[in-house]
Amino acid sequence: MMIDKYKGISPTADLDLLRILGARFSGRSLLNVNSTRSGGGVAELLGRIVPFLTDLGIDVRWETIEADNGFFGITKKIHNALQGGRERFTHAMWDHYEEVNGKNADALALDADVVFIHGPQPAPLIKAKKSGKWIWRCHIDMSSPSRTVARRILKYVKKYDASVFSVAQFAPPLARPEFVVLPSIDPLSEKNRELPASDISAIAGKFGIPMDRPVLVQVSRFDRFKDQLGVIKAYRLVKKYNDCCLVLAGSPASDDPEGEKVLNEVREFAGQDKDIKILLLPPGSGTEINAIQRLATIVLQKSLKEGFGLTVSEAMWKGKPVIGSAVGGITSQIIHGVNGFLVYSIEGAALRARQLLNNTRLISEMGRGAREHVRKNFLITRQIRDYLAIWAALENRGASEIQLAL
Ligand code: UDP
Repeated sequence: MMIDKYKGISPTADLDLLRILGARFSGRSLLNVNSTRSGGGVAELLGRIVPFLTDLGIDVRWETIEADNGFFGITKKIHNALQGGRERFTHAMWDHYEEVNGKNADALALDADVVFIHGPQPAPLIKAKKSGKWIWRCHIDMSSPSRTVARRILKYVKKYDASVFSVAQFAPPLARPEFVVLPSIDPLSEKNRELPASDISAIAGKFGIPMDRPVLVQVSRFDRFKDQLGVIKAYRLVKKYNDCCLVLAGSPASDDPEGEKVLNEVREFAGQDKDIKILLLPPGSGTEINAIQRLATIVLQKSLKEGFGLTVSEAMWKGKPVIGSAVGGITSQIIHGVNGFLVYSIEGAALRARQLLNNTRLISEMGRGAREHVRKNFLITRQIRDYLAIWAALENRGASEIQLAL
């Protein structure tokens, strides 16, 4: 079984509980619905969780909603507004949002024992609920959302049996159960598995990334919340004193129509600097991302808002100290001064990068701590354990104890 491959990697207690929960739900059905199969953290997570659950004997399906570009333009605005951005909405936009969801509700088979609806895009599907437990899974940073847009989305969320957030501060007060589940990475995926040094240098060569100089890396969709311009500014401050180059790797997501515009802004801002590599990677570039994170001297995640930031755990798992903004889910991953640094400004990011570049021992010490922190807290086995525990809790509401053993 797939779970056996995690022996010696994941904490034993997680595996024991996961086996018991897996046996309990074997033969039952679970449906996931989100808005894209590639690009961004949700697709990344589902791509790993779905086969794992299937291997546990659960009858799992993963559906994505069908929609036109107009719909994704609107839902990107909703995403931005929920993360605190200023966006304008018309009645026609909300009508289109509802209408597309209505068509998807008719087209999709939404029956399962437990249904996970991911993100705001398919949130209105709850109207089509007939049976099972429905859970709304929020993946974005809702620490300071636009109040009007949040109210609108919460109108749907309130109808779910439960909702799940990545960070407690994102959870608004609701009458139904709310859970906090931190996302995770799969140590055995193409993106995170060990890579031979020859593969890493071959990929560095392919992208023209030097291996004999310090490399700063940020891997992120081209999205303003990821603040690639801030990363370039920090790199320029570092570069005044420390030789280094910068890699900004990103790829398009089919539900993110703003990507190209942001990419062009980043390219223009980088100008003619040959030490800045802007890489647009096609979907499915797991090995390339893996190698880029491994060849990094330091990884940055200078997001302005962040639901979780899988890229942070991915880099930490590879033994890299991450300099991350002190926002959203990044603060759940980095222990400041122990396994990375939390920063509040471009200057702060540059200062910490210089501190690390000037002290290679600190880089390896923090990197070791980073990997161990991910092993204990952010591996896929823990997250699946949490999801199945929530399922058990929802089916036993009010029970004073839940019998898990077979
Ligand atoms: N990613 C990728 N290729 C890229 C950029 C990002 O495969 O060019 C992956 C990245 O490795 C991570 C996911 O997309 O697994 C992004 O998840 P995260 O939670 O960091 O951010 P999101 O995009 O969901 O806001």
